[in-house]
Amino acid sequence: MPGTVKNAIKRGRSTVETAIEHGRATVGDALYHGRATVESVIHHGLATVESAIHHGRATMQAAVLHGREDIRIESVPVPNAGVGELVVQVGAALTCGTDLKVFRRGYHARMIVPPALFGHELAGTVVEAGEGVSDFAAGDRVVALNSAPCGECYFCEREQENLCDDLLFNNGAYAEFIRIPARIVAKNTLHVPDHVPLEHAALTEPLACAVHGFEDSRPYPGDTVAVIGGGPLGLMILHVAALAGCEVIAIVKHDGQVEAARQLGATRVVQVANIRKAIQETRALTPKRQGVDIAIEAVGIPETWQEAVELVRKGGTVNFFGGCAVGTHVTLDTNRIHYSDISLRATFHHTPAICRRALDLIAGGRFQADTFITGHAHLYELNRVFEKLMNRSSEIKTAIVP
Ligand SMILES: [Zn+2]
Ligand SMILES: [Zn+2]
Repeated sequence: MPGTVKNAIKRGRSTVETAIEHGRATVGDALYHGRATVESVIHHGLATVESAIHHGRATMQAAVLHGREDIRIESVPVPNAGVGELVVQVGAALTCGTDLKVFRRGYHARMIVPPALFGHELAGTVVEAGEGVSDFAAGDRVVALNSAPCGECYFCEREQENLCDDLLFNNGAYAEFIRIPARIVAKNTLHVPDHVPLEHAALTEPLACAVHGFEDSRPYPGDTVAVIGGGPLGLMILHVAALAGCEVIAIVKHDGQVEAARQLGATRVVQVANIRKAIQETRALTPKRQGVDIAIEAVGIPETWQEAVELVRKGGTVNFFGGCAVGTHVTLDTNRIHYSDISLRATFHHTPAICRRALDLIAGGRFQADTFITGHAHLYELNRVFEKLMNRSSEIKTAIVP
């Protein structure tokens, strides 16, 4: 008899344990599904709430450029989406060398005339899609480029859309919301893959310029490429070149840029303030001091344009990537250019096809997006951020989060 009781207890216990086990699995399952459902509801709810907030509001905070070193955060009307347009809630807007130039000079002949909304590198969430928009809806995460070509002019027909006679620019990224004009919605607004943070997606615009500049220099894998300048775009070009399998020599001025250049793939870094010395040291890194295959100038001053020509080997290519101030000129050694068969190129801006490749590069995982974003700041801190950038800090890009 005692044996039977013991057995019964044993059997009972194992039944209870099985029941508990199954129960636990069922609860776990329910929790998992429940969470997924809740998250999805929150996501959809948020998109709806954001849309509602947008619809319910008359004004927003935005940076307005009034002139030289004069940015003011003001209350301005919230934009609405007209036919073919989008309104995007800005998730992140990135500072850029061009914005810094505009901040210093107070205007940009082609891109911005004050007083005007300011900032052009952004990614965010659609809160309103205008009539006729079929590719995007409220809640979509997007990167909207700063320009779009007309698609009809002489240059657009020859796939040189960066030179479009009627390039349409959009500014206003340093704000809570931004209106995206119909042409940019149709040609240069891209869906951001779920795994890509918005602040990384916002790098699409400058990266497109960098990819364009690099490809335009007609590189071959294994080429030695010298990049003059350690600003955001210089660093981006050298990173793109390194990812493409080139040997990169970075020529930089400031201490903070040395580490960034190495981190992004430069095999050698030449740090000199003196241009003569930079040329000597760079040539010394090449076989028989013959010079590099490709030199890309990413500073935008006449002195370094001239330096770039002296860095390349016979048959080499120079790319004058950095735009200089209006009215500046350079003197070039005609003999050297002719008898050494040197190709001179200058790359400006980007095309819709290149913008798509740039976002693919960011989404692909090899591109070190995080290295380029060295700080975060609120919209209200924008003036302080630009003042800091003017003082040549080691910041590369700051993500402005409204
Ligand atoms: Zn930019
Ligand atoms: Zn055009």
